[in-house]
Amino acid sequence: MKVAALIVAAGRGSRAGPGAPKQYRPLAGQPVLRHTLGAFISHPEIDAILTVIHEDDASAYEAAANGLPKLLPPVHGGATRQASVRAGLEALSVEAPDFVLIHDGARPLVPARLISGCIAALGTHSGAQAGLPVTDTIRRTANGLASEAVPRDTLWRAQTPQAFRFEAILDAHRHASGEEYTDDVAVAIEAGIDVAMVEGDEDNIKITSATDLQRAERILMRGGETRTGMGYDVHRFGPGDHVWLCGVKVPHDAGLVGHSDADAGLHAITDAVLGAIGAGDIGKHFPPSDPRWKGASSDIFLAHAAKLAAEAGARISYVDLTLICERPKIGPHAEAMRARVADILGIDMSRISVKATTTEGLGFTGRGEGLAAQAIATLIIG
Ligand code: MG
Repeated sequence: MKVAALIVAAGRGSRAGPGAPKQYRPLAGQPVLRHTLGAFISHPEIDAILTVIHEDDASAYEAAANGLPKLLPPVHGGATRQASVRAGLEALSVEAPDFVLIHDGARPLVPARLISGCIAALGTHSGAQAGLPVTDTIRRTANGLASEAVPRDTLWRAQTPQAFRFEAILDAHRHASGEEYTDDVAVAIEAGIDVAMVEGDEDNIKITSATDLQRAERILMRGGETRTGMGYDVHRFGPGDHVWLCGVKVPHDAGLVGHSDADAGLHAITDAVLGAIGAGDIGKHFPPSDPRWKGASSDIFLAHAAKLAAEAGARISYVDLTLICERPKIGPHAEAMRARVADILGIDMSRISVKATTTEGLGFTGRGEGLAAQAIATLIIG
């Protein structure tokens, strides 16, 4: 028995606002689509996964799928969801799977239990559809006024996966009339395929807005073990007319001296993230003796730490940074610094704090000889 997953990720979706399509937006440090692929990759009954992408998204897909197993080469979608699924099914036909689970790329939190349930239902039916019974009262409205309630005892909210015996759904798509169907179950029903309803999951949300991304992050953070890591870094002032702090260029009457760009803020955060996963320190991963890191932009250090954290199954919940110096003034740049750190880590800016203090003229920071940075990172594992 061979089971394939067909991930539909060709949509452009504009409801999540400007920027990358929602399936490529960062969610807890990784693209939404990478979470979705991971759910199927880690399921023992799934043998192969094919993703339908938009032709403009080839590089975004490569980044999201980099290094993952079980993946077939992606195919380009068509003008409609129906055309995209058809293209995916035609490509999958070479693999001749027995079953196919068709799933939205923008539903990253599909539980393993639901994937198992859909496959199990195909033992007795030619199709299976994840969904949830409607429990709220459903009411018609007219001109903004409440009208009659609609009986809800036969109503379900449709989710994906929608699972089918492969030959049946391929045949149904090939013979579907020209009209636009909203999903594959509609195509299947038109072809006379019996589709069982499988109880879905409230967490199996579809990411269509920025609010959905925040909700998905909260779901992902739930129930894990909390780890904290701390980082501390110092760099000496030297000749120059600017410093780099938290990835932001700040004009100053001195520079910071270091092997890389001497961004003490990013170095402290990098060490804090590494500390929370027990992965050593920045010098272990990027030795100052290595000429590759001479003058390097320090965002690569932090991005690497974030990647190691993701690989360790950890999600960065919060970063708090304190920069310690008399000058330059940090306040005017703090928001830009938060935004830049959030961007490097692939998490929401609300999860980053950047603040500053002086040492009242005392010590090396007080004398203006150097600048120090302290960071604490909170990570959720599991
Ligand atoms: Mg340093």
